[in-house]
This record gives sequence, C-alpha cells and structure tokens, in this order.
Amino acid sequence: MTRVNTSTMATGYQTLDIKHQRRTITVNIRIATGKQVPRGHVFVPHVAGKIVKGVKVAGVTVGGLAVPASAGNVVDVLTGAAGVDRVTLVSVGKTAQCDAEVMRRVGGAIARSLQSARSTRSVIDFSLLGELATAESAGVVCEGIHLGSFRFVKYHTTAEKPLNGSVTLRGLPAGKATAAAVSRAQSVSDGTNLARALGHEPANMINPVTLAAEAKKMARKAGLTCKVLDEKQLARHKMGAMLAVGQAGSTPPRLIILEHNMTAKAKPVILVGKAITFDTGGYSIKDKNGIVGMKYDKCGGMAVIGAMQAIAALKLKVPVVGIVAAAENMISERAYRPNDIITAMNGKTIEIISTDAEGRLVLADSLCYAEKFYSPRAVIDLATLTGGVVVALGHHRAAIYANNDKLADGLMTSADHTYERLWRMPIDDDYFEQLKSDDCDFKNSAGRDGHSILGAVFLKQFISAKTPWAHLDIAGVATTDKDGPYCPRGGTGFGVRLLVDYLEGLK
Ligand SMILES: [Zn+2]
Repeated sequence: MTRVNTSTMATGYQTLDIKHQRRTITVNIRIATGKQVPRGHVFVPHVAGKIVKGVKVAGVTVGGLAVPASAGNVVDVLTGAAGVDRVTLVSVGKTAQCDAEVMRRVGGAIARSLQSARSTRSVIDFSLLGELATAESAGVVCEGIHLGSFRFVKYHTTAEKPLNGSVTLRGLPAGKATAAAVSRAQSVSDGTNLARALGHEPANMINPVTLAAEAKKMARKAGLTCKVLDEKQLARHKMGAMLAVGQAGSTPPRLIILEHNMTAKAKPVILVGKAITFDTGGYSIKDKNGIVGMKYDKCGGMAVIGAMQAIAALKLKVPVVGIVAAAENMISERAYRPNDIITAMNGKTIEIISTDAEGRLVLADSLCYAEKFYSPRAVIDLATLTGGVVVALGHHRAAIYANNDKLADGLMTSADHTYERLWRMPIDDDYFEQLKSDDCDFKNSAGRDGHSILGAVFLKQFISAKTPWAHLDIAGVATTDKDGPYCPRGGTGFGVRLLVDYLEGLK
C-alpha cells in the first residue's frame, strides 16, 4: 500500500496524496521526482519569534513577520505570489518546548489550514527549522496531518466535501530514517482513523455480526488471520458471561480473534477490547441523555482492530493476538436481569446487580479465553468501562490498572511518546470485599465507591497472577465533544498509537 522510494530522497520530495474515501480520509505517500519546488500552498514551520528579513521561502523572499508564540498557530504570509499560491507560517512555539506532541499539533494545524484554504496542492518546507528538521519531526507532523484530516463523511449527502490534494515535504534529511518515519505515520494513523470511523458507525449499521464481517475484511487486506466465534461456539466454550450480555441483542454476540505473526516462536501479546455495539444498559436502563452516544461503547474493541491493522502494516516481529468481544446490550424477554446468577468461562459464578455493568462480563470471558488458548507474554485490555473513571480522571488521561510493574511502566512510557496519556490506579485485593455476593461467588457491580477500581478488581478474578496483565479504562478519552488539535469531535481512536508504540518497543 505504501511505496516510498528512498533512493530519490536526496533530491526528490515526499508527496502525500490526500484522498477522501467513502468511510474516511486516507493519505497515500509517494516520492515526487524533480528538483523544482512544486507549486502550491507552502507551509513553513518556524520557531516563535521574528523571521529574519529577506529569508527565502520556496523561492519567494519574505521577512519582518512575527511567528505566533503559540505552537500550532498559523499566519498567512502572502497569497497569490509568483511561483506559489500562498505561504503560511506555522509556529512550533519555542525551541526548548518543541516536542513530538507539538509537532503532531503542527501537522493538525496544517490539515485544518489546508481544508479551510481549499488547497489542493501544498508543500511543507522544514528547511527553516534547523536542528528540528529531523526524521522524527517529519513522522509526527505527518501523523498530525493524517489524524487531523479525518472526517466521518460517509452519511452526509449535502455537506461540503473534504478536499482531495497532495502534500509535499521538503527540507528534511535524506535517507531511510525520514522515509520510514513518514511511512510509519501513515500506518499508525490509518489504524487510528479506522478505529475512529468504526466508532462513529451507528448500531443500525454495526452490530456484532457486521462488525465481525468488517474485521474479516480488514484482516484479509492487512494479511492477518481472523477467526470469529459465533454464539454456538461461545456456548461450547462455556462463555456464559458474554452470552448473557448478548442474549437480547438484535444479532448474537461474536468473539473476533485476529492473529499476527503467530509462526514466530515467541509468546504472543494479547490485546483484548470491549465492543458493546450499543449499550442501552439493559434492564438497569440508561436515561434518555445517558443513552445517547452509546454506539461508542465499542471503542476499546475498535482500538484493538485499528492497532492490529497497523501492526500488520508495520510488519512487527512480535506475535500479537487481538480479541474483540462484540455484543449488543439490549432489552427483550430474553434479556438478562438483575439478580440473575451466571457462570463465566472459568467456572466462577457472578450475580448480576447491574445489567449496565456488562463490559466487565464480556471481558471476563475474553480474558479466560486468552489464557486458555494462548500462553500470553502479556494481556492488555481496553474498555470504555466505567463512568467512574471520567469522574476520577476527566477527559485527558485513561486509567491503567496492572498486576505487573514492568508492563505498566512500558505502557506509561508509550503513553508519553504518543500523548495518549495514562494514570496508574490501584487494584488491591481489599477492594474485592465490596464485590462479594450472598448467593454466589461475587457480584458484577457494587455501587459508586471506587467505581472504576472495582471494574478492574472484577476483571482481576479472570486472569492468573502469573500473567502480566493491564486493564485500560478509556471511558473518558475514547470520544471527545470538542474539536482537538488533530482530532475532530467524536471517536478519538485512543489506544491505537499507544499499543503500537508499546509493541514496537518489545524485543
Ligand atoms: Zn453498560
């Protein structure tokens, strides 16, 4: 899919073709030949301060203009000059504060500016950035462009169409590192944008069965193995918790299993995602406000699907399995009820207190499945699990719970690299007392005290202590109701970049 001809890097220019497809926007990369600066809308990233008078930008002399102090702010220098259509300065702020996230936001600002100026051809000239003009900068700027270009336009019939066009990068070090960073940005962003797009899909389009079909389609294209367990197979595996959640759904539950590089000798890392394609809350029904947006209750699973696509595209050495637990939490005469006692795959009995605490039930069986059929090097689950985590951490960090410090530290480091930030929370066994049930092993819910922690402590009952395990409660970060620096309103695709960064770091 991505072709980068590194031999022409020294003289040529990297060109990104931005192509809007039905579901989302994809950006393809190729190298344009020729030494001429391509015509078009020229973006000049620059550190905050004044541009030295008389400096040449894309063959045009500009000078005396202040670069805005805040990173990501843009100022149009000139429009309609000979040889270029428009020159726009993009501030990267102060040199000392310019990190990967600043550059990602610069990319996002460029994506916005391209759309608002309706520019079909553009150039990003890194040559005035000095030592900041690195392969790493190019990679994260491209990430910002890919991510910031995302629009979920599929169902619009009248809105102005997002723009097709191309972006050329210049002024970067020649060689493999730049090409690799630009190519990686595309893979990781495509995975994130896939997770976002699937997140946006409403429940009348994406249910457990159609989601499984989408996953199979992706797997075929990406070169992953995909296996889907239907309700009969789930019953054979005694996955009673997952079946209980899905038994009133408009379609039955599905366990989607994606495998990457399983011929390698190493033990696989297992990624597990909650994918409730719609969560009414069941008989513990949500109110008319709380129920809106519950199509996004599948975002943990979508992060796993997006990450698996990226992992395949990047041809990571480490074997990885993605397990997506897909069910619809609905109401009917078949629905599970409060006080029902159900049996999970590991034989543990669970009293249902809240039918709205369904995510931990589908994850419980998925964790059991992961340990039974693979010998995992580590298990990482992602879920929009609790409102409690939103109360605790708001919308800027997800909670991480882990039974293993090395795994937690590795994920925290990747969180810093990717700005998909985490905050570690406790899973002491003391909390388990709250979950004890009078009539069976334990309850699925115990009220609001330590709400997010209890979700994690519940899950802990389904994985053995010897398996390094981390649980990410992403309920506060999986969606956003405000346009961000490189993420429009809606699904954020949180977790894809974080997981890929972590897996890339494994030997
Ligand atoms: Zn729920």
